[in-house]
Amino acid sequence: MSRGLHPSSHLLAAGALAIFAALTCGASTTDSGPLDPAFDYHSYANVDQFRTTHLDLNLRVDFGFKTITGSVTLELKRLDPRSTQLVLDTKDLMILDVMQKATDVLGATAKNQTIWVSRPFHLEKPDPILGSALVIDLPPSKKGTESIKIDYETLESSSALQWLTEKQTARHKPFLYTESEPIGARTWIPLQDTPQVRATYKAKVHTDQGLRAVMSAESDPKAKASGDYSFVMPEAVPSYLIALAVGALEFQETGPRTGVYAEKPMIKAAAKEFADTESMIQANEKMFGPYRWSRYDILVMPASFPEGGMENPRLSFITPTVIVGDKSLVSVIAHELAHSWAGNLVGNATWRDFWLNEGFTDYMESRIMAAVYGEPRASMEAVLGFKSLQTDLAKLKPADQILAIDLRDRDPGDGFTYIPYEKGRLFLSYLDAKFGREHFDAFLRGYFDHFAFKSLDSEQFISYLQENLLDRYPGIVTRAQVNTWIFSPGLPADAVLPVTTLFQPVDAARDAWLAGKLQSKKLGADWVAQQWVYFLDGMPPTLAAAQLADLDKAFGLSKSPNAEIGHSWFKLVIANNYQPAFPHLEDYLKTIGRRKLIEPLYESLMKTPAGTEVAKRVFAKARPGYHPETVKAIEAIVAPKEETSE
Ligand SMILES: [Zn+2]
Repeated sequence: MSRGLHPSSHLLAAGALAIFAALTCGASTTDSGPLDPAFDYHSYANVDQFRTTHLDLNLRVDFGFKTITGSVTLELKRLDPRSTQLVLDTKDLMILDVMQKATDVLGATAKNQTIWVSRPFHLEKPDPILGSALVIDLPPSKKGTESIKIDYETLESSSALQWLTEKQTARHKPFLYTESEPIGARTWIPLQDTPQVRATYKAKVHTDQGLRAVMSAESDPKAKASGDYSFVMPEAVPSYLIALAVGALEFQETGPRTGVYAEKPMIKAAAKEFADTESMIQANEKMFGPYRWSRYDILVMPASFPEGGMENPRLSFITPTVIVGDKSLVSVIAHELAHSWAGNLVGNATWRDFWLNEGFTDYMESRIMAAVYGEPRASMEAVLGFKSLQTDLAKLKPADQILAIDLRDRDPGDGFTYIPYEKGRLFLSYLDAKFGREHFDAFLRGYFDHFAFKSLDSEQFISYLQENLLDRYPGIVTRAQVNTWIFSPGLPADAVLPVTTLFQPVDAARDAWLAGKLQSKKLGADWVAQQWVYFLDGMPPTLAAAQLADLDKAFGLSKSPNAEIGHSWFKLVIANNYQPAFPHLEDYLKTIGRRKLIEPLYESLMKTPAGTEVAKRVFAKARPGYHPETVKAIEAIVAPKEETSE
């Protein structure tokens, strides 16, 4: 996922969860007790007894009722022959029936026939974050493998699904998409929703004629929009990477193994913006080994998409806010592509280890950007990323500044701050600087080969690092230094911080402009987007209305096609209550749903009574176009719990 979510600290887990997990899975999970790094505290699944190896989905997407109805067949290995209860994760699902394939029970007698036998099941009391454990009783079996089929239906509250009406899309056709990371998959599929389990999948999806379904799987871009689609995902993926989108989508090729899906009005601009994708793949392959997912396509999402991007395998979901016309924001593509190695190929075992996905990916994003667009651009982006990290370090409590963060009894989304991304990136940059690029690249390449299609936790990573880097080149970095990076808050004193010379002229220009020695129109003739963002972000808290009017007139900032520049501009507009730009701010908040861009603006608005009124009014209008998770986050900003309960 692209960086920049803010912790949704308003969500608090019920303590009942820990007790239930302890009962079903045999691990101790009290708040103060020792943490078991190998245990996923955000899943009920009894993975020591059963492991899913394959899923078969048969789904009907119904836009009229805003439901997905269908079945999933889980192929499971029974690791423990004594276990007779299968525990799965669900949230906001109606479970209609649970069946077991009779051949699994009867053996050879029912061979070649598919007979399904209903099995007793019940849903446990729901936890507000984790949902309900689905407990299925099974007869004892020594066979080892079995197939369990579950008929189910999603509810409108299923938080991984966003249903957009005709009015909310470019083509005036409805659109559905899923966003499953971290624990949303259980809101549209009953399954073992933990990144510790990887499975291949197949799917049949039925929907309205004229709409196209796409998944994070092998699919045929030339298939007719008949309403019936088939998908195969031959590589084993964790549940959070199962993804589906349905809309009036067109396809355009951008290279031998790359292409873009988008609604028609967007497709040409998208294909142009993302034309360098193949070069990015090749750059990364050269450094870190082969791309192992066959195709890499990009799906341009509706503007409501809450993230910058989501690294769904073979098909990254990308916000349209990065389509600017000048490739200035394509680092999001480099980021999602890098996940094809970090995360999708070698992934976090639990959400505590999320930094293994995002820190590695941010580091590799920089390397791709440097290889394709040059070191100066990569260094500016790294410096801007570091500034975001500093903001988070200033406001997060020490326990939340730790890479291997303890998220027990919390929403795993609370850990999606700049810490796993930017602090993780700095840790890898540190190792790169200490051991030298040649040795560090060889280490990373070996790491991706060694753990390919597996998940690992922070402790396993440290052991691997010790053996393959620290011990191989002794006397450079100690285990204690590594532990400080991974288990201590803040940044180690010897962190290697990113630098760039390209912001110096911007600082000088800003100073001169603020002192009235440089006219607005003479600013930034040769600046790129990153320099504009840096220019605006570095402004003092108070500016005169005339200064803002002058800037806006010279550069059309209120109507900037670059959503990042717009974001930095509107922060100034709000801070200075610059009313002439408020109608544009309102449009911005109503058309963009990317949380990184809009949440800080709502937060700023809420700082004054007049701004509060604007925030509430605009949110009421914008709300139907936001993703459910975005609605929840903005609600917590503009209407904290005490008020809504009246
Ligand atoms: Zn990411």
